[in-house]
Amino acid sequence: MKKYVFCQFDTRFLYRGEVGSIADDFYSRHWQAKEQDGYYKPDAFWEIPTWITEVDGVLAKHGYKSELKVISGFEYFYLGEYTPTTFLFSVLDINKEYVKQVIKANTSCDFIVGGYIDNPHDFFRDCPNVTWRKSVEDFCNTIGVDIPYSYEVSYRLFAGVKCIPRLTMSTGCNHNCKFCCVEKCVKHLKADDVRKQLDAMTVLDYQLIYLNDKTFGQAQNFKDLAVIWDVVRHCNPDFSGFIIQTTAQKCSSPAFCEFISGCGVLIVEMGIETFNNDLLAEYRKPHNEKMILKSMQNLQAVHINVIANVLIGLVGETKKSYSRTLTFLELYRPQLYSLNIFNLAIYAGTDLAAGLGAADDTDEMKSEKSYHTPDDLEAINYFTEGVFDIGNFILGEKNYA
Ligand code: SF4
Repeated sequence: MKKYVFCQFDTRFLYRGEVGSIADDFYSRHWQAKEQDGYYKPDAFWEIPTWITEVDGVLAKHGYKSELKVISGFEYFYLGEYTPTTFLFSVLDINKEYVKQVIKANTSCDFIVGGYIDNPHDFFRDCPNVTWRKSVEDFCNTIGVDIPYSYEVSYRLFAGVKCIPRLTMSTGCNHNCKFCCVEKCVKHLKADDVRKQLDAMTVLDYQLIYLNDKTFGQAQNFKDLAVIWDVVRHCNPDFSGFIIQTTAQKCSSPAFCEFISGCGVLIVEMGIETFNNDLLAEYRKPHNEKMILKSMQNLQAVHINVIANVLIGLVGETKKSYSRTLTFLELYRPQLYSLNIFNLAIYAGTDLAAGLGAADDTDEMKSEKSYHTPDDLEAINYFTEGVFDIGNFILGEKNYA
């Protein structure tokens, strides 16, 4: 029977240029400091790739074998030893050139490729051994694959791996932040499909589950978390709780905070971005400073840890506005569990990209963008130093509430 090999680049290979950077040092410290709380990261990935677990779920259901090939260096680009096999890749801007190199080094092999790049057909025009598929369902309908599509999940290729599995109860977000490329429509998954994810996770070694919902609390099934909490802790005695992502608007409601606390939510990642009302309004964030402060108070009252998401590089930030954000973080530092520090990336299709003339500034690893002025860059350097300092301080002093 035909075998499928999932090919995944090792993040240590893809991001080798970042080793030793201020961000790399911070996130290495983060994983180390929080490991005792269940922050488990597989060596080769930041998280288990969902595209693999969803495609492999369908393959497993129909009795197909599969394998995982981790590509950790150029010496692994030749795949000849696997024939006859179909190789699968998920293509992103960060790995697309390497994917093409692997495909060109293996012209006698078949590749089925999906992912998130612009104009994929143009990009792979000179690779006749590639079939581009835009979804798992498309993959199932590929000539030669021909299996009926259903939503499935399998972690069989990751059995025993220590990690934080992702659970998706819904996709999309009802808000419309100017820089965000998340689909502007919330769709909840059927209870049966949520259950499939939980059942599949039983082979993993985990203490925490990360809720993949972009703004937890918007989808009509969010109250199912209470039942999920019961189900998971009964089948995994090591399970300690959930990490969710949501807004300060949601957490400014004491009732919401009490609800999530009763469902085993341990950590809230809150997309604060900046502590400046005018910028929050300009970027159409659903909260203001008052809501942020109220959220901090509400979450503290129910002993939920907060990870503040902050953005470097918003257009309009100055040394003064960055300084206000630093002051907020410094004041609330004793309550913060950690920081998620992101560089603003300009994604095509967002209102922000339109306003900036769609400059090619999609690199999340770089804080400097083509539109930044010398003053902007000076302010960015000032903020970067300050925010990582606070982040490192938090990591040195804080564990669970
Ligand atoms: S609230 Fe978060 S997910 Fe929703 S649009 Fe804003 S940034 Fe995107």
